[in-house]
Amino acid sequence: MKKGKLIVVSGPSGVGKDTVVSEYLKLHPEDVLSISMTSRPKRDYEVDGVHYYFRTKEGFEEEVAQGNLLEYALYNGNYYGTPKSEVIKRLEDGINVILVIEVQGARNIKNMLGKDALLIFVLPPSIEALKERLLNRGTDSMEVINERLEIAEREIRENTFYDYKIINDNLDSAVKSLENIIKNEINK
Ligand code: ADP
Ligand code: 5GP
Repeated sequence: MKKGKLIVVSGPSGVGKDTVVSEYLKLHPEDVLSISMTSRPKRDYEVDGVHYYFRTKEGFEEEVAQGNLLEYALYNGNYYGTPKSEVIKRLEDGINVILVIEVQGARNIKNMLGKDALLIFVLPPSIEALKERLLNRGTDSMEVINERLEIAEREIRENTFYDYKIINDNLDSAVKSLENIIKNEINK
């Protein structure tokens, strides 16, 4: 049986990765999103096991020690990682799995899987628009937003190893671009 494709979507915080991917998944329910593990505090609207598997810092380190993660990284002082259980069996079963992860994790996946992974970077139309989206989302303090914007500039500089870039200006166009990229790559 043909294996599934591992699709990595990265981009600065607030660019709209989760929004674009969730719109894509409404059109393609046959593909699945990998739920990550994190040690960052849960936001009010988030549900354990739905948005993330939430762990303490020590709990996360224990998962790492047990070899349960495919990749992990520190982002703004918190751990984030991809559980192997979210990915490996599904790929073997021919299901495409989407990871929404930051740049260090994406680089590790690329080093591990080479051409077997498809890496897509989502860009904002401008840094001002990015800041506005982070403010409008209303989930982070001003301090955290400023830290995320600083990380964003570094991520935008370091995104040279991605296979494709999408600008999320108009949401529908960004979703369409993601759809076209995945369709073309899968049919190769
Ligand atoms: P990320 O997952 O990259 O951190 P989100 O998907 O949470 O970003 O989106 C951040 C904010 O930007 C949300 O409030 C979302 O509704 C908004 N947003 C997403 N895409 C667009 C777009 N194309 N134009 C304007 N706002 C957008
Ligand atoms: P947030 O705190 O906004 O949910 O996520 C912060 C950053 O961590 C985002 O860039 C997000 O894509 C990334 N991230 C989420 N899950 C993972 C993961 O499993 N691994 C890695 N490396 N990054 C992740």
